Amino acid sequence: MRAPLRVIAIFLALARAAICAEGFQAGLGRADITPAEPIRLAGYASRTKPSESVAQHLFTKALAVRDPAGQLTIIITADTIGVPRWFTDQLAGRIEAELKVPRERIVFACSHSHSTPVIDGCLTDMYGLAGAEAEAVSRYTKFFLEQAFAAAQGAAYRCLYELFPIAASAR
Ligand SMILES: [Zn+2]
Repeated sequence: MRAPLRVIAIFLALARAAICAEGFQAGLGRADITPAEPIRLAGYASRTKPSESVAQHLFTKALAVRDPAGQLTIIITADTIGVPRWFTDQLAGRIEAELKVPRERIVFACSHSHSTPVIDGCLTDMYGLAGAEAEAVSRYTKFFLEQAFAAAQGAAYRCLYELFPIAASAR
């Protein structure tokens, strides 16, 4: 089976599993993570100066799923090159503390975009940033962490209180 067909087959199998599963609920959350100031972008050594404009907005998004036993699982994605361990540790720690979702039920996935800001602690040695450029990266990373939590919180809230059944998403 060709790769795209295999992906579609897997998607349909998963979708069917979700549609057939009684008692599951889902909620979505999203937060903008477009930098508010010029910032060094990730992934190319030939880039030697900060960004000059915004071509597209960047987002972090979350899906929360509540199973029939009442347990929540949260999947978070982000338009970013990648994040270091401390970032996911802090994000998961806050989700555990404030949303009561245990670490083993939290997934964080990055798109690995090379058109997004450098993240503090993620291969930062490669860029040799100092002064104002390093401070902008630090500010952005803190903002991104806040927004990732906001997306997760929004998804969890909608999942628990707006009672959106997964089956409705297939109609
Ligand atoms: Zn890469």
